[in-house]
Amino acid sequence: MSYDTILEIGKRRGIVYPSFEIYGGLAGFIDYGPVGSRIKNNLQEVLRRQYIVSEGCMEVECPTVSPEPVWVASGHVKSFADITTECLKCGEPYRADHLVAQKANIRTEGMSISDLAKAIDEYRITCPKCGGKLENPYTFNLMFQTHVGPGRNKVTAYLRPETAQTTYLPFKRLFETARRKLPFGVLQIGRSYRNEISPRQVMIRLREFLQAEIQYFLDPATKNDPVNLPQEAKKNISIRTKKDDVVEKTIEQALNEGIITCPLIAYHLALALRFFTDVGIDPSKLSLRQHRDDERAFYSSDTWDVEYLSPSIGRIELVGISDRGDYDLTQHINVSKQDLSVNIDGRKFVPHVLEVAYGVDRPIYCLLESCLRPADKEGRDYEWFAFPPAVAPYRAGVFALQKKDNLPEKAREVFELLKNAGLYVYSDESGSIGRRYARADEIGVPYAVTIDYDSLKDGTVTVRDRDTKQQRRVSISELPALLK
Ligand SMILES: [Zn+2]
Repeated sequence: MSYDTILEIGKRRGIVYPSFEIYGGLAGFIDYGPVGSRIKNNLQEVLRRQYIVSEGCMEVECPTVSPEPVWVASGHVKSFADITTECLKCGEPYRADHLVAQKANIRTEGMSISDLAKAIDEYRITCPKCGGKLENPYTFNLMFQTHVGPGRNKVTAYLRPETAQTTYLPFKRLFETARRKLPFGVLQIGRSYRNEISPRQVMIRLREFLQAEIQYFLDPATKNDPVNLPQEAKKNISIRTKKDDVVEKTIEQALNEGIITCPLIAYHLALALRFFTDVGIDPSKLSLRQHRDDERAFYSSDTWDVEYLSPSIGRIELVGISDRGDYDLTQHINVSKQDLSVNIDGRKFVPHVLEVAYGVDRPIYCLLESCLRPADKEGRDYEWFAFPPAVAPYRAGVFALQKKDNLPEKAREVFELLKNAGLYVYSDESGSIGRRYARADEIGVPYAVTIDYDSLKDGTVTVRDRDTKQQRRVSISELPALLK
């Protein structure tokens, strides 16, 4: 199914839609609707269970606006930029490297402004939209700048382009909370901003997006110690190495052969695969990719992505795992002039950081694509979603078979019981029972509870399973435990 069709279904079913629609929209921003918000929150809940409950990470929440020195230290003020060119006739902006790569069919990584200007000239590249002449390329910083406070003393600030740096800043306080021991991990889920030059696929390249980034602070003396790898590290998966070779092997093998340089990277790649599979992303479409030497940040010794191969739009990067060394904390030591080193057993050092950086919006697109089921011949003449219960917007819908003979009253009683048991359930009284099942399937609700005439007699209800369409009778008293 095409990207546009999936988004169209998402719009109609209250999952996701373009923001500011009544004012003509603005590229790079989306709203999560009533159904999408539930899915997004559930996805975050699965993530928190994995990293906070199982892995023992802490969580922080920091501001999205931060003063300029933070981003001077991180390097974003200087180099978080893309080279841009604009059409002189219609004003359409383009990322110069993408445009040249596409039109001239050459590799443009690492090309300078003058290289790109030369290429535009040489290959006679014009505006793809109107054929107009292109302006000389220039550097465009992707951070949104703002000012805090009025007048002469106003402070230059930026909307954060990533959560990571804001997690590093209170390192000293976090180290205290961790009882002055390493390693420890800190999760931050929050919004970040990038003023993308021309975002096209809304859910993939957003100007405001949600990140879930985990920073592990490590002792360099022990960071390469062996770890017990999760089960997911023992399954075959497609791996693209930094030399652009594609091999099929397990994460464990790749670690033993030295392709993956650090046991913790192998560990976190496996955990990421578990997370994506748990939330319902098709595991057969996941693969691993190691960053090439010429694309990796100079301070990182090894960087990996988990990618999803989308049938509709190609490769999508879902998480990046990077050994950042002591670069970030050292930069903040240099600019802030504060001592962020630690002293453990008489050794004074700057901790290293291993970062696990998830986007949240992209996995939701991949989830929609993975769980969308076509209409079938056996009675379902509509597309439906097979979301796993952990991320489905509601656990169950509660329906009275008829709008009479005390059935709605009984249904309300069952609804209250499930609500009070802490379950996300909804009731729906409009249309035939078949239509109500269809609407539940359309937003991927795994169970439908129906109150019929037997319910009044013997206190049982039917529970319909979305995936099999099978119904079974269950006593009302057992229902909360069953749905949980
Ligand atoms: Zn143009």
